Amino acid sequence: FAPWIDPKSVPYIRFENVTKKFGDFTAVDNLSLDIFEREFFSLLGPSGCGKTTLLRMLAGFENPTEGDIFLDGQSLKGVAPHNRPVNMMFQSYALFPHMSVEQNIAFGLKQAKMNKSEISDRVQQMLKLVKLEKFAKRKPHQLSGGQRQRVALARSVAKRPKLLLLDEPLGALDKKLREETQFELMDLQQELGLTFVIVTHDQDEAMTMSDRIAVMDAGVVKQIGTPAEVYEAPDSRYVADFIGSVNIFEGEVKQNADGLVKLDSPDGFSEIQAVEDHKFETGQKLFLAIRPEKMNLTRERPTDANAASGEVWEIAYMGDVTNYIVKLDGGKMVRASTINRKRAVENPIGYDEVIWVSFEPDGGTLLDR
Ligand code: ATP
Repeated sequence: FAPWIDPKSVPYIRFENVTKKFGDFTAVDNLSLDIFEREFFSLLGPSGCGKTTLLRMLAGFENPTEGDIFLDGQSLKGVAPHNRPVNMMFQSYALFPHMSVEQNIAFGLKQAKMNKSEISDRVQQMLKLVKLEKFAKRKPHQLSGGQRQRVALARSVAKRPKLLLLDEPLGALDKKLREETQFELMDLQQELGLTFVIVTHDQDEAMTMSDRIAVMDAGVVKQIGTPAEVYEAPDSRYVADFIGSVNIFEGEVKQNADGLVKLDSPDGFSEIQAVEDHKFETGQKLFLAIRPEKMNLTRERPTDANAASGEVWEIAYMGDVTNYIVKLDGGKMVRASTINRKRAVENPIGYDEVIWVSFEPDGGTLLDR
């Protein structure tokens, strides 16, 4: 949890055993989830896993088939969308085509009967947020897709609703603009003390912006945690795979003593040693999930407990890091990343080199198979 959140307080939003069916298809399956006031909360998952449906139920455009949703401790059953202190930005933007950019942004403020000078100030502030000051007089059809998306974002933030629901708000923006807007959104959310629930299938975006992330799969939440928790301590293979890239080793517990599990591994390492965070029994079948950046690549045989040799198979130079795929002598392909602290042009590890891959016992996460 973020430092300002008291997990014992009444959650701002509570999904309680919520199921949503469309005909006999279950889009959301008995899902329970708490979100706290002033959280930046992300729903992350592959296409079709039910993220948007959760937002639509929260906004009141769909009703749960079973279960209930609470806002500030009050059930939302029977509360019409316009009576919820919620604003939703849709994936489709839904801009008014006959209105200019500034009129689109001002629309909700006029409806809220804000006075003219306040509206004008607010619109300017929003235009600045999304960097569209020069486009204020244009109509939506005179804008690019990314610009339209920014207008929709500005319009949904303008009213400063206590709760803002954003469905893929930055999906149409190029990388640079997306990164800038991410930080500006975070600043704005902090400054105004708003609660944001955002839907995304972009894990980098969720990691960057969120206080907590719910990783979803087929209508259920697989894991909820801070970005660091879901990345560093995934509690299932699904989450380990979905967030970032990962190496999965299969093994069987040979010995479990002194907080160190020894695994018999058929994957090229003669034995894998891993620090345990659960109790595992001898003979139990486990996965070890380990991130590429936790793998060391060396030309000399390392002293690390877990080491195997192999051959460099693929190299992708990314600037800040270089990503390698190494084919271990046992045949398994593993991913390793090196941070380019020194200039990578000087004697970098190259194709077909025979190399050692190793990792520390506390580098990965053990998962029950
Ligand atoms: P995406 O990232 O592609 O937007 P999502 O996780 O937001 O996906 P939802 O839009 O919540 O997914 O949809 C979840 C599932 O429910 C999908 O399989 C979708 O086809 C189905 N679904 C959504 N709305 C309806 C509807 N009105 N009628 C029938 N099925 C629906």
